[in-house]
Amino acid sequence: MAKTPDEIMGQLEREDVQFLRLQFTDILGFIKNVEVPRSQFQKALDGELMFDGSSIEGFTRIEESDMLLKPDFSTFLIFPQFSAEESARGRVARLICDIAMPDHSPFEGDPRQVLRRLIDRASELGFELLCGPEPEFFIFERNAQGRPTTVTGDHAGYFDLAPIDKGERLRREITNALVDMGFDIEAAHHEVAPGQHEIDFKYSGALKTADNIATFKFVVKRVALEYGVHASFMPKPVAGLSGSGMHCHLSLFREGKNAFFDEQGEHQLSQTALHFIAGLLEHAPGMVAVTNPLVNSYKRLVPGFEAPTNIAWSTSNRSALVRVPARRGSGTRAELRMPDPSCNPYLALTVMLAAGLDGIKQGLLPPPPVQRNIYKMTVRERRAHRVRNLPGDLSEAIGALENDEVIREALGEHVVEHFIAAKRAEWHAYSAVVHQWELDRYLDEV
Ligand code: GLN
Ligand code: MG
Ligand code: MG
Ligand code: MG
Repeated sequence: MAKTPDEIMGQLEREDVQFLRLQFTDILGFIKNVEVPRSQFQKALDGELMFDGSSIEGFTRIEESDMLLKPDFSTFLIFPQFSAEESARGRVARLICDIAMPDHSPFEGDPRQVLRRLIDRASELGFELLCGPEPEFFIFERNAQGRPTTVTGDHAGYFDLAPIDKGERLRREITNALVDMGFDIEAAHHEVAPGQHEIDFKYSGALKTADNIATFKFVVKRVALEYGVHASFMPKPVAGLSGSGMHCHLSLFREGKNAFFDEQGEHQLSQTALHFIAGLLEHAPGMVAVTNPLVNSYKRLVPGFEAPTNIAWSTSNRSALVRVPARRGSGTRAELRMPDPSCNPYLALTVMLAAGLDGIKQGLLPPPPVQRNIYKMTVRERRAHRVRNLPGDLSEAIGALENDEVIREALGEHVVEHFIAAKRAEWHAYSAVVHQWELDRYLDEV
């Protein structure tokens, strides 16, 4: 239950909170915040605080730069004290905000409101999207200058235990901090690569999940900093090792029931589930720029590391883009395996929902599930199974987004325009660099 502004004010005073952070996310997925001292608390709670939106990526033009921060009271929390030094300075609380124009109308470039719009559209059809994400990340050492490296002190593997898993203590610290902040943590474990971890929190509605992902990334980084190490959500920090994904377990609920489950259906899946999965497959090329937004994201989407490279679904194998885990009944769901944790969680959930709803609207049906290891299939076999390729790099992905009307419409012109411009610039900057691989390969020989 959301607290009222008066209740929040009371709690801020009672708990001696010194700073209030008004948090939001820019189009590229970076968390931003404006921090105010006690004298401004009332104004902040009244939604009257202004900030200069012109300096935020993709937000606005210079001439309309005064934007309003409208707090969502259901997101109120007081941060745990990350260090002794910090607690001496007083406690810090936060509210996640929606962005409004100076005339108080919603700002169309606010990713959180873009997601709200799609959630509303789903609820007009009687559906609520639930999402359980599985964010993975690396813990790396810092060098003498405090800069992050890709060196890890740990050599453990999947589900290993201490003492091999040196990250265990830190992972527990992170888990404790998250629990203190109200997260319902379902599992925390070492991942496949040395230094790689995963912490899973319970599924929620789409908006809460996106808020949770944004908060999660901040907390993981913050606690790691306290330990003198660096937490990175970069999708593929080390070539030849597993990358970090953020699988999303998706289901639709209708009138309190899982709308993906049908005891009589094929694979015990409902038509709604099949349409939704078909929509995810149909729009995978158009949405991958959003779910996997970095040049580096596409270095994770290569064969051999449990990350998808092709557009297919399965009820078992982990090389497919969509996997339907064995659980049925209220736990029936589709696991979308392409997203990585560098995405803007609000926009990523927007495009997933838009793709699935379009599958329902058009009554699309997926081809039969592919139960074989797709990495090992020949081109001909793939064609026979109607398995298409995912875009191979960010440039192709941007092209596919430009051509996907459903995804564009869901994001809205403002976001699409700014997103594509920023991503094109990123691609061009990357393309202009001569990389070490080129020197190693060509300098000597050519
Ligand atoms: N790290 C893998 C990925 O990139 C997933 C591994 C797993 O969770 N089994 O998606
Ligand atoms: Mg997992
Ligand atoms: Mg995992
Ligand atoms: Mg998974």
